[in-house]
Formats: sequence, C-alpha cells, structure tokens
Amino acid sequence: MKSFRHVDVTTVTEAVAALEYYKGKAVLNAGATDLLGILKDSLLPEQPAALINIKTIAGLNYIRADSAGVRIGALTRLSEIAASPAVSARHEGLARAARSVATPEIRNMGTLGGNLCQQVRCWYYRYPHHLGGRIICYRKGQGTCPAIIGDNRYHAIMGGKVCFAVCPSDLAVMLAALDARITLYGPEGERTLGIQDFFHTLGNVMGPREILTEVQVPLPPDNSRQTFHKYRLREQVDFAIVSIGSVIGVTDGRCTHAKIALGAVAPTPVRATGAENLILGKSIDADLAEAAARAAVTGAKPLGKNAYKIEITKTLVRRMLLSQL
Ligand SMILES: Cc1cc2nc3c(=O)[nH]c(=O)nc-3n(C[C@H](O)[C@H](O)[C@H](O)COP(=O)(O)OP(=O)(O)OC[C@H]3O[C@@H](n4cnc5c(N)ncnc54)[C@H](O)[C@@H]3O)c2cc1C
Ligand code: SF4
Repeated sequence: MKSFRHVDVTTVTEAVAALEYYKGKAVLNAGATDLLGILKDSLLPEQPAALINIKTIAGLNYIRADSAGVRIGALTRLSEIAASPAVSARHEGLARAARSVATPEIRNMGTLGGNLCQQVRCWYYRYPHHLGGRIICYRKGQGTCPAIIGDNRYHAIMGGKVCFAVCPSDLAVMLAALDARITLYGPEGERTLGIQDFFHTLGNVMGPREILTEVQVPLPPDNSRQTFHKYRLREQVDFAIVSIGSVIGVTDGRCTHAKIALGAVAPTPVRATGAENLILGKSIDADLAEAAARAAVTGAKPLGKNAYKIEITKTLVRRMLLSQL
C-alpha cells in the first residue's frame, strides 16, 4: 500500500475544506471497514494522497426521535442502529436491516454513512491489483463491463445498462421502503434529497467535495407493518442475493399503504411500483400475492447466469405479502 496522509477533521466544514485542499486526491474515512480493503487491493484509479478521518467530527453520531420520525447522524454505527429502542419502536425494518449486515465486529465499526456510500462487491471490480493486474471495466473508467459475458451470477437483473454491479447496502433497501431522505453538506452548503434520487447506476450523486451528514426517516402510517428480509447464501455473514424491505398498511382488510423495495437486483435499490400499485386498495390473498410477485419483476432482463434471481425475487415478494395475512 502506498503511504498517505491521515488528516483528522473536527467539523463537516473542515472535512469539505480538506477535500477541496486535496483536489480530488483525498477520500473520506469513517469506520474504514470498506475503505481499507479498497486501498489494500489498489482498486481506485489512483491511490489517495490523504484519508480525511471524519470519525473525529463531534456530533455526527446520534439517533434523534420526534413526532416526525427519526433522524440518524452519518457517523452512527450500524450496531447502534440495530440496538436502538427508538429505531426498533418506530422502524423495526431498519433495525432488522442493520442487524443483517456483516458481523458484530463490522457493525461496531461500520457507520450509516459508510454503509450507504460503500463500493460495489462485483468480483471483477474487486479483483486485487496485486494478483496478476487490475481488471479494467466501465465503472473503473476504462473499457466495457466484463460481467456482461462473464460470470454474472450475482449481478443485476434490472437497470444495469453499462454496469451490472448491484447496490450492496442493506440499509439503503429498507430506507427506500421508508421513503427516507439524505442530507449532504458541501461547498455550496446543505442539500437534502430523497433516497431514490441519491443512488444511480455508477454510485451516488454526491459531489467530490460533499459529505453525507444525516438520514431522516419519516414515521410510516400507524396501521403499517415493516419487514426486511434478505436471501443470502451464508446465513451468518453474507451480502444479499436478493433482499426486500416493505411497509404495508392494511385497514378493514384492504391495503392502504404499500411501499416495497428490492435490493441486490439492480445498481440501486428498486421500488417495486408495479406490485405496490397492484395491491393498493385490495385485500391481500394468495392470488394477489402471486400477481404482485410477477409485477415486481416486470421488465427484468437477466444476464446469462442470474435468471434464478427473478424466481427468488418473486418468492420474497409473495412471502412478504402472505405474511401480512
Ligand atoms: C466482510 C464484510 C461483510 C459485509 N457484509 C455486508 C452486508 O451483509 N450488508 C451490507 O449492507 N454491508 C455489508 N458490508 C459492508 C459494510 O456495511 C460497510 O463496509 C460499512 O457499512 C462501511 O462503513 P464504514 O463507516 O466502515 O465506511 P468506510 O469504509 O470508512 O467508507 C466506505 C466508503 O464510504 C465513504 N464514506 C464514509 N462515510 C461517508 C460520509 N459520511 N459521507 C460521504 N462518504 C462517506 C468513504 O469515503 C468510502 O468510500 C460488509 C463488509 C465486510 C467487510
Ligand atoms: S458490473 Fe460494473 S463494476 Fe462489475 S465489471 Fe461490470 S462495469 Fe465493472
């Protein structure tokens, strides 16, 4: 690993100033659970000249609940979200998603901001530079995507276009079902956007001198139930093959609120709007659950080795709806 400067900052303004000072040659460092591997394997086009340590910023680690919902600071650790009574009471699905991430050690170091900004797990992208040379690809800024004709069993079945790596964040999926909002801070001040506008095919909309500071999670309707479920190969520690976060409200037997988000099927968390629209206003039964499962994967275009993900997605949607009965 090449040597680099390690800069402790104490405010978000200092963090942005440090990013400006290093002119694109510095990266933010929170828990470093993702970043360290990236640096060790030389995945970035250029090794950074400096790591800007944001863990030294006081006041970015908090969970604040009020009548509107919960606000969570970017430096809040995943273990804190998983164990928070305020989160569990209002957003049980989010607590579940946090509990499903990695291992206790990683949850104790990894932060909310880092989880949302982590790099993709595509094995071509992650291939270590020191083991026979860098695998170049579209996301790395050169060439096309080798996964299209390669081993794409864990890649996207929808929304891929130029890069088929899936968004690896479990929290992002549940936050999409909860209509969360994300606040960024940069040279022009603060801006807040919906989580669906934060992610795109090649990552997120954050500028090179911006820092994620807070996530706001509104209260879902009183009659709603939240679920988060993740299908993975190794139950103890693994990224999702497919995941689902949902907030479903039912009154007098009819569905009044339907938010269903799918994870690990696309480069971003995906709202299954076809399924949502289908069940709204209706009473949920086995036939409707089956129809909604089919609607959730309308338009999916699997690659050569990942059509099985369509069946898993349908199963997760169907089971989630049947669990509401
Ligand atoms: C073995 C293993 C298993 C894992 N399993 C899962 C899993 O099942 N589900 C899952 O969701 N994740 C999983 N992860 C990923 C893990 O959740 C992330 O590594 C962790 O959340 C990152 O948080 P961090 O604070 O350590 O981020 P860092 O490693 O410090 O940073 C990660 C990236 O985010 C950027 N960043 C960090 N904070 C901010 C901020 N506030 N503003 C802007 N940019 C920021 C950094 O510059 C860097 O690019 C796993 C990781 C490992 C190593
Ligand atoms: S899926 Fe994306 S990250 Fe993976 S090889 Fe293709 S372009 Fe690169």
